Amino acid sequence: MTPRLAARGVLLVALAAVWALSAYLLWQTKVPSSLHLPHLDPRTYFTAAQLRATASFSRVNDLIFWGTTLAQIAALAVYARWGIRWARESAAGPIGTGMLLGMLGFALVWAVELPFGVLDLWWQKRHHLSSVGYVSYLFGGWFSLGGQFVFLCFALAIVMGFARKLGERWWIAAAPAFVGLVLLFAFISPYLTPTHRLHNAALRAVATRLEAEEHVGHVPIDVETVRDVTSLPNAEAMGIGPSRRVVLWDTLVDGRFSRPELTIVIAHELGHLARNHIWKAVGWYALFAFPGAFLIARATRRRGGMGQAEAVPLALLVFVVLGLLALPLENAISRHREAEADWMALRTTHDPAAATALFRRFVPATLDEPSPSTIDYLLLENHPTIMQRIAMAQAWRQSAKK
Ligand SMILES: [Zn+2]
Repeated sequence: MTPRLAARGVLLVALAAVWALSAYLLWQTKVPSSLHLPHLDPRTYFTAAQLRATASFSRVNDLIFWGTTLAQIAALAVYARWGIRWARESAAGPIGTGMLLGMLGFALVWAVELPFGVLDLWWQKRHHLSSVGYVSYLFGGWFSLGGQFVFLCFALAIVMGFARKLGERWWIAAAPAFVGLVLLFAFISPYLTPTHRLHNAALRAVATRLEAEEHVGHVPIDVETVRDVTSLPNAEAMGIGPSRRVVLWDTLVDGRFSRPELTIVIAHELGHLARNHIWKAVGWYALFAFPGAFLIARATRRRGGMGQAEAVPLALLVFVVLGLLALPLENAISRHREAEADWMALRTTHDPAAATALFRRFVPATLDEPSPSTIDYLLLENHPTIMQRIAMAQAWRQSAKK
């Protein structure tokens, strides 16, 4: 072995060790490792009709997921193979041409996904989960589409700019730049979400008590109006430092859910903030950004590297494929965080009955399968399944008795 190769080997081992140690630290949770989740039968919690409805709802959802994914990959594979042709005719310089190719790829993906998006909307409307009209679906999404478009161009400018300066090592500079952007976005996203303060004084008092019990400091509880778009109930913990807040969708506070159930929701969201889950999510992003950017740098070598516009169509394909491969891992990390937030809610409210009632109510409200198939679990579930969440409430009750 040459000294250079040996040094490379040592560096690689050191980097892998840093990665593993960081992952280990980010994985730590308050959920006791000895906690045993009992195996529960969905039929004791849900009627046969409810279970049939969720199974039939998820069958078409699966079809839409696979259709969208395969269409996207097929379109980008074709684009990676033949898209370069457009690059030769542009006079915009390498970065400008690269951005142009990025936009074309984006438009292509948007076009092949569109039929699946319409199918998805039809399926949601059929189940009264969405009230978006087809016309506003087609023409109303320009703002968010425009945002993604601008972000893609910006991302390409960063990658190509670094690649033209640093060559194949661009990823060492680009990955921290993207981590910084994700951190910035985590900070500003609460300000981009239009909300109003929670009017319900009783619920606000509950939140103040929970804040103290979870030692999370003051966090505003806001309400986002989504009723004219969806009937799905949801809540979110957002922001970092001074921008932290809990956002409840108005579909959650429309009277369908009892106060003890909403207490569980708020305790869960505050649990995310108490356990620094948004910081940890940024940490995980960093752990994926470095190897991801490195793999894109390697894969685009034979197109001259990311400094060349010709590499852009291939980079888009590699990026999407890597995202799909990382999805099971990302979901597992997200489920782990969500389980901890559920545990925090049980620990602060001491109310497993309300938690169970809340999770049961989610099934008719969202048509989520209480216990999905393994493949759905791996690829689509970023929360523990409803049955796992109910089982945790049971397990908490058992552990509290001891
Ligand atoms: Zn959560």
